[in-house]
Amino acid sequence: MNKREKLYEGKAKVLWTTDSPEHMVQEFKDDATAFDGTKHAVVQGKGQFNNAISSRLFEMLRDAGIRTHFVRKLSEREMLVERLQMLPVEVVVRNSAAGSIVKRLGATPGARFDPPLVEFFLKNDALHDPLITDDHIRALGLAPAGAAAQMRERALEINDVLRRFLAGRGVDLVDFKLEFGMKGDELVLGDEVSPDTCRLHDAATGRIMDKDRFRQDLGGFMEAYGEVLDRVAS
Ligand code: C5P
Repeated sequence: MNKREKLYEGKAKVLWTTDSPEHMVQEFKDDATAFDGTKHAVVQGKGQFNNAISSRLFEMLRDAGIRTHFVRKLSEREMLVERLQMLPVEVVVRNSAAGSIVKRLGATPGARFDPPLVEFFLKNDALHDPLITDDHIRALGLAPAGAAAQMRERALEINDVLRRFLAGRGVDLVDFKLEFGMKGDELVLGDEVSPDTCRLHDAATGRIMDKDRFRQDLGGFMEAYGEVLDRVAS
């Protein structure tokens, strides 16, 4: 499948049109950003790690019966995906408290959420991705009728599958962000599932294995991504 034009370039990925109107190429860049894009670095190898990890996790989710946009890995940095009408909503699932819920609501770091907590954020850089409710999604027409409830249910299913898969490889899934799109009437998981979009801790030691190493200048950023790839590849 040949790449044609650049349709969209985000902070960490580029989407290309292809010869097929139904398909796109998703290319992973080496750029790392945090704090609303105010912190930025180019980190050699990140694109390859995220493409490999995302491809593996999408395959695993597909095998578990989750509908995703993933078709196949094309190259070190590229995957072929189905073209979706993306919804401007980020869906976050939290198994324990870290990051913005600690800052925003004063949750105790590490406190478990049982059942897991689902949050929606409006995907809008100018507004700094504010927290929204399913009523906002309905009232602002951000998704088709019923899609907010479906995203919540699907995100919890994905959490069950991903959490179990990672636990079997010694990785604790703290939280993660998903983005969904529509293909006709069907809700489909899009974007990526990687250490850029998940908080992953070593289950035995609690060592951070995700983008928090970059956010907090902990060092060993790509070594951690390499280790995540080794664990999920097995
Ligand atoms: O920042 P916050 O604690 O809300 O992030 C929750 C989860 O969602 C983290 O795993 C983070 O990496 C991910 N996230 C993301 N993209 C964003 C916001 C959060 O991947 N724009």
